[in-house]
Amino acid sequence: MEKGLVAVDRWVKGSQAYFLTHLHADHTSNLSSRWAHGPLFCSPISARLFPAFFPGFDSSLIRVLEVGVTRSITLFSKSSRSEVRILVTPIDANHCPGGVMYLFRGDFGSVLHTGDFRWESGNERVQLAKETLLSVLGGERVDFLYLDNTYCHPIFSFPPREDVAQQVVDFIKQHPNDEIIIAIDNLGKEDLLVHISRTLDIKIWVWPERLQKMHMLGLNDIFTSDTSLTRVRAVPRYSFSSETLDGLNVMCPTIGILPSGIIWGSSATQNDVESVGLSESKGHSSEQTTDSRKRSADGSLKLDGNEIKPPWKYDEYLYAFPYSDHSCFSEIQEFLKVVLPKNVCDMVSSRSVDIHPCHHFDNFNCEKCTISGRETT
Ligand SMILES: [Zn+2]
Ligand SMILES: [Zn+2]
Repeated sequence: MEKGLVAVDRWVKGSQAYFLTHLHADHTSNLSSRWAHGPLFCSPISARLFPAFFPGFDSSLIRVLEVGVTRSITLFSKSSRSEVRILVTPIDANHCPGGVMYLFRGDFGSVLHTGDFRWESGNERVQLAKETLLSVLGGERVDFLYLDNTYCHPIFSFPPREDVAQQVVDFIKQHPNDEIIIAIDNLGKEDLLVHISRTLDIKIWVWPERLQKMHMLGLNDIFTSDTSLTRVRAVPRYSFSSETLDGLNVMCPTIGILPSGIIWGSSATQNDVESVGLSESKGHSSEQTTDSRKRSADGSLKLDGNEIKPPWKYDEYLYAFPYSDHSCFSEIQEFLKVVLPKNVCDMVSSRSVDIHPCHHFDNFNCEKCTISGRETT
């Protein structure tokens, strides 16, 4: 595709149409309430949430695209001085509320930008997304794939989120006298919190801005900002640390839960661990959990298949659960079998450039993908 036409999660001047995959901060850098470089295409849920992230944004710029529905957009090619017709189909990314992939088709062939995505086997939404992809592609391969390669390494293998959510519930039940805090981001992990709330018949505390987003998502009865109503609180991930938990335990027994794929592999580098407010030097496992996990030659931690392992006791009061909103390695492999890309660009390194393909993998091999060192949300 010619440069200067379409930008995905890239918000600098110079494109004719801008596409938002989802509202996590690593996909909205340079986007602001005053941003006005062109029409902004997004899913209905992202459009609904938009004012909570960018209050005062000129809503006349927003173009809502229904998920699974192909739309035709006409842009103008400066090189050929003629109109260019682009077909775009948003596809459910199964990542966080509003998250979509975009499949673009036109004279240039096809380009699929995954945004962040979780390709969970057996998940109904994934099944529907697969059917949409196959039907729109009509037997053709994807020419250029921009891939969420966050956990694109064989060391990463996560169970389905439903199973991990139940594991978290069981864990909370096993600690009836503790306050529980769960680290979450500005968006995402709602299904986990809803499952905890419904199963334990308990409300969940969230901070006021997060409560507003929950209400925008239609989750009205589950969440509260009154701490006296519940012992389970979801707190911003940036405010969640071993030190905070030490402090809280001076007053009242409190356990921290980190639902994330980020530390379940050797990519749990110092940077990653610090990004969730944990100190590497403090990291250790209980004997019980060390035995249950395999440590490979390079010292990485490995989950076998989709087996549920005990939570990783990271610190005295802190437990990590492999609840991931990104696909693990085997899921990425399954996804690649569906779209059969001719060329792959890893999204993390291509985030700063236009959708125009920049890297080619002639003999595509997923292990070539790099593991991101950025904060993953
Ligand atoms: Zn994300
Ligand atoms: Zn992301």
